[in-house]
Amino acid sequence: MILSIASGKGGTGKTTVAVNLALSLSGDVQLLDCDVEEPNAYIFIDTKDEEEKPVHTPIPEVDEARCDYCGRCATACAYNAIVVLHDHVMLFPELCNGCGLCGMVCPRGAIREVPREIGVIRRCWSDGIELVYGVLNIGEARATPLINRVKEELKPEKTVIIDCPPGTACPVIAAVQDSDYCILVTEPTPFGLHDLKLAVEVLRVMDIPFGLVINRAGIGDQAVYDYSDAEGIPILLEIPYSEEIARHYSEGKPIVQAMPDWKLRFMEIIPKIETKIK
Ligand code: SF4
Ligand code: SF4
Repeated sequence: MILSIASGKGGTGKTTVAVNLALSLSGDVQLLDCDVEEPNAYIFIDTKDEEEKPVHTPIPEVDEARCDYCGRCATACAYNAIVVLHDHVMLFPELCNGCGLCGMVCPRGAIREVPREIGVIRRCWSDGIELVYGVLNIGEARATPLINRVKEELKPEKTVIIDCPPGTACPVIAAVQDSDYCILVTEPTPFGLHDLKLAVEVLRVMDIPFGLVINRAGIGDQAVYDYSDAEGIPILLEIPYSEEIARHYSEGKPIVQAMPDWKLRFMEIIPKIETKIK
C-alpha cells in the first residue's frame, strides 16, 4: 500500500501525520520524505546507520568549436535553460530538466550530456522503519527530478508512506503520483480551506482517493467541516490544537511516543483507508 501525505499549504502538520502514522504501524514500513527542499521527518525519528548517495541529472554541454549559433537549441528548450547569443551559448543549469531535446535538434552535433549533482538521497533505519529522504542542493530551482529519484527507492512490498512537498505544483504531483490513497492534512481556517480546495481539485484530476486529517482542530471555524461534508470527503482523524502537542513537536518528539494513547488513533486510520482503495 502506498499512502501519500499532502497538504495544500506548508505548516499544516503534514510531516507530523506522516511520522506518527509510520511509528504507529507494525511491520515493514518505508517512509519517503519527498519534501526535498526542506526534509524534516528525520528530526522526529531516532535513526541509525545512515547511507548517502549523490543524485545527478544530465545537462547539456556545448562544444562551441562545432556550434554555428543557429539558435535551434534555445528555440526547442521549453524551460529557457539555453540562450544563444551571436557568438556564445549560455546555459542555465538550474532551469534544465535534462530532457535532452536540445541535443536532438542540434544540426552540428555540438551538444553532449554531462552529469550534474542536484542533491543527495539519504537512507536510514529505525525499528521497522526505513526512512529515505532527498536533500536538494541550495539554489536548485527544480525539485521534481530529485523527488522522482527518491521514489525510485520505493519498495511496494512494504507499507509506504510518502511525505509530499506542500502546495499543488509539479513537485507535489510527482510525489503523489501512483499512490493508492492520499491523506490531505489541513487546518480549520479560511486559509486552510482555500488551499484544501486546490489540493482536492488536483487529486480528483489524478483520480486518487483521499481523506482528511484535520490538525489544530478547535481553532478557526466550521467551514472545513461543512466543505468536507458537502463534498463527501471522509475525515480520518482530528488532532486538536493543544499546547502539550505543540511542546512535544517543538522538542522533536512524535505525538505517539510522548502520548502513547495516540498510537491507536493513528492506527485506526488504516482500516478507514483500506475500504476506499481501488
Ligand atoms: S543548436 Fe547546436 S549549433 Fe545551433 S546554437 Fe545550439 S549548440 Fe549551436
Ligand atoms: S536538456 Fe532539455 S531542458 Fe535542458 S537545456 Fe536541453 S532542451 Fe532545455
